[in-house]
Amino acid sequence: MNGIVMKFGGSSVANAACMRQVATLVASAAHRPPLVVLSAMGKTTNGLFAAAQAAENGNLESAISGMNALKAAHLTTARELFPEGIPSALEASLNDRFGELELILRGVALLRELSPRSMDAIASFGERLSTLIFASFINAPLVDARKVMRTDDTFGEGQPRFVLLPELAAEHIAPLLTLGRTVVTQGYIGATEDGLTTTLGRGGSDYSAALFGAALGVEEVQIWTDVQGVLTCDPRIVPEAQSIDQLTFAEAAELAAFGAKVLHPATIQPAVEVGIPVTVRDTQHPDGQFTTIAPDTRSDRAVTALATRGPVTVLTVNSTRMLNHSGFLAKLFEVFRRHGVSVDLIATAEVSVSLTVEADAPLEALISELSVFAKVVAVQDRAIIAVVGERIKQTPGVAARIFGAMGDINIELISMGANEINLSLVVPQPTVVEALRRLHRAVIEEAVCA
Ligand code: ADP
Ligand code: ASP
Ligand code: MG
Repeated sequence: MNGIVMKFGGSSVANAACMRQVATLVASAAHRPPLVVLSAMGKTTNGLFAAAQAAENGNLESAISGMNALKAAHLTTARELFPEGIPSALEASLNDRFGELELILRGVALLRELSPRSMDAIASFGERLSTLIFASFINAPLVDARKVMRTDDTFGEGQPRFVLLPELAAEHIAPLLTLGRTVVTQGYIGATEDGLTTTLGRGGSDYSAALFGAALGVEEVQIWTDVQGVLTCDPRIVPEAQSIDQLTFAEAAELAAFGAKVLHPATIQPAVEVGIPVTVRDTQHPDGQFTTIAPDTRSDRAVTALATRGPVTVLTVNSTRMLNHSGFLAKLFEVFRRHGVSVDLIATAEVSVSLTVEADAPLEALISELSVFAKVVAVQDRAIIAVVGERIKQTPGVAARIFGAMGDINIELISMGANEINLSLVVPQPTVVEALRRLHRAVIEEAVCA
């Protein structure tokens, strides 16, 4: 259908001035018309997690004072947006929401129990509050995302019921867009079939935007944030990072999976399935550079961008007796499966296999089981660096540049992703900033032509 999704992240709706800017952008897209998907204001979600944890620890006073700080911030924003007075319906709704939140926090404190289900109920308030204020400000209909974003009951990481979404979106959102109305809804939150509130996991509003976009079949999904698109590296680590004009779906998916926080790792998939382009844009610089992610985009660089994830632990499994025997890897991974530990990178040698796992993975029992048939060494405090680019493979000399640039930084594991667009390196975590700066200089600032 005609129309776009415009998703605004936490920093884009952090206060009244930001919300006014968002309102201007939304108004200029009114002819398309937009479904506006909002995150919680600023760091509200962190505040809600902190309040919930304080309540769980029995520290009700701290939980309530955390909640009151959030209440003050929301009321200040509403007051600044409505200098002539907060509309009474909005004020009543805000008070109702905070009343409800207080009841839940008191319940958690009484029981000293915070289930993932209660945590999702608490976390949902951020998006529910930001959208209440914004929809009232632009005088647009607010559709509760929980009517459309049907998920399973994996609280904390709800899995969308993809097949149901088009029908629910057609029922609750499409008719308003068809009338030419701008519609506001929440990112991040959803509900089970029984109406229990769920969330899609931290940073999940990007995923919501792509899911709504795919369900409605819109022309474009716009992710509005605080940087000029997807950059060649995290700008907090490499200030010289540059905006990337075009990314392929595969490159964007690799970057997101390997730590480029600008996009939630699952965002790309729903868009890929229906071929909807995703753009990443800067709310404060709407006419500046931005990134387009689409299936038919092209890049003439060998290396498109760098990303990093860590800390991780490297496990090296050594078995002179077993490795050449058929079934060894199956046996190895069966142990990982049983312990619920997922593996990221793998490199195999004649008598050993090295793999990376999350730093907080429960390893003790897993290692003792593996030790029955292999020697296992665990090395902690490592980081993965992903060098991503569609043309890495075809470009002679890239690997030499990468390894040359690393100089005295020890590369402890190398893995070329099966899709051949991600060359991953494992380095000691304390060297990761320096390693990224060197790599950025060598393979991005001094571009290697493909
Ligand atoms: P939002 O609240 O809008 O969802 P996030 O904080 O989740 O924004 O993501 C934007 C941030 O992601 C940027 O401010 C930047 O610090 C970080 N980031 C990490 N890697 C990259 C990258 N490759 N390109 C752009 N931003 C990145
Ligand atoms: N508000 C949620 C979070 O902070 C979701 C999001 O902003 O994407 O994780
Ligand atoms: Mg985000």
